[in-house]
Amino acid sequence: MILGGDNRKKWSNLDVLVMQAYQIVKDERCSQCGVPRWLCRNSDPRIQVRVKVDECYAKQEIDKFEERRRKDDDKSGIAYPEFYTTDGTPLHEFRRAYYEQLAAERAEDAEEND
Ligand SMILES: [Zn+2]
Repeated sequence: MILGGDNRKKWSNLDVLVMQAYQIVKDERCSQCGVPRWLCRNSDPRIQVRVKVDECYAKQEIDKFEERRRKDDDKSGIAYPEFYTTDGTPLHEFRRAYYEQLAAERAEDAEEND
């Protein structure tokens, strides 16, 4: 069943465990902030919250587009992002560098908070 296999087969123990884990994650998710409830609704004073900003460049471009389109008569269709590169580099080649940069930023954040 996992990874798009034939889903008419009987579920394996791993399939059941994955679905149970998924259900737990879904059930624990706060409807207001999306974080597990045991974190965002926990009154233990050792748990504190700081706000971080996560930028999605596609959403920013769509917002700009929608702002320009607000004056148009024709508002049919749904705006969606189409990614391209300025130098022809295939998009998949950006994945590894993105996660390496993310890991470096997280390591830097962890160092600052020690
Ligand atoms: Zn919450």
